[in-house]
Amino acid sequence: MSKFWSPIVTALEPYVAGEQPAIANLVKLNTNENPWGPSPKVLEAIHAATNDDLRRYPDPSARALKEAIARYHGVASEQVFVGNGSDEVLAFIFASLLKHDAPLLYPDITYSFYPTYSRLFDIETRSIPLDADYRIRPEDYNAPCGAIILPNPNAPTGVGLPLGDIERLATAHSDQVVAVDEAYVDFGGETAIPLIADHENVIVIRTFSKSRSLAGLRVGYAIAQRPLIEALERMKDSFNSYPLDRIAQVAAVASIEDDAWFTAHRDELIENRRQLTEELENRGFVVLPSQANFVFARKPGFEGKELAAALRQRAVLVRHFNKPRITDFLRISIGTQAECRRLIEAMDDIL
Ligand code: PMP
Repeated sequence: MSKFWSPIVTALEPYVAGEQPAIANLVKLNTNENPWGPSPKVLEAIHAATNDDLRRYPDPSARALKEAIARYHGVASEQVFVGNGSDEVLAFIFASLLKHDAPLLYPDITYSFYPTYSRLFDIETRSIPLDADYRIRPEDYNAPCGAIILPNPNAPTGVGLPLGDIERLATAHSDQVVAVDEAYVDFGGETAIPLIADHENVIVIRTFSKSRSLAGLRVGYAIAQRPLIEALERMKDSFNSYPLDRIAQVAAVASIEDDAWFTAHRDELIENRRQLTEELENRGFVVLPSQANFVFARKPGFEGKELAAALRQRAVLVRHFNKPRITDFLRISIGTQAECRRLIEAMDDIL
């Protein structure tokens, strides 16, 4: 550890991203990527933008992309903030939070970047345990707080919270930011975007990484009323005034405009999730009800770590967690039908 940097940096335990190994014939169900490639229109847009113009800086305001996102969600483009993946959007949100005399609340268990950003930006936090069914209980968030952040559906459980609950939280904490991370909402969750019109404290974070198959391009965004967004823009401009590269901007526009591709692949994924849940349950797994593009499942009597290792030996990659209460769970991203079948065959070989 270097003595030259700040104590916060010296003590940082960074977030560890899921593995991206180069293993031949691998069934990769460990990082919630979409099993299908992006819309062909995205590839055309990338091709068309790959030219001499790359010598020029990208549009620092990402105007065309913000307008496309705004049109899609029925909001004004000044209500849209874009960044390099929703992780970066979340980083700007954490960096902008006021230093309150009350903690930031988030669920325990949840997306592990929240504790990381909290440490990085020196934000006091309190994590609120999930209930016995691994659900977020809104009534547990009644304590005074500086802000609230939660994924909906939650990660890594996949369990969703109804819109009415989010609305009650937003109303009860009208003087605090309520940030809803909707990375997985397209797979069956209820979006909080309609709340934004009446709630100046609500900010919704979205990504192109999951339902739009663009994890490799790094495009995320947030929607809120103008004052919240305007502050994030100033934060971003103080850090790097070019939010997204030229290719990512045009590709994301093509993606959000291709509704036919989006709907067809979302529906197929939801059907695969239904089938995989059934197959796992038939084999004695407990599978939490998922509204996401993954399932969170455990087989009583089996350790998640051991199951994951046995699957890996059979070239099937899933994620397991070492955190208390969830050590026996596997998080399995939903793949194509063929990939789900390979997972089940490997499971049958192991069990
Ligand atoms: N939020 C949640 C809850 C996630 O699981 C992820 C994916 N790891 C992200 C945000 C970040 O996604 P991205 O940066 O690819 O947009």
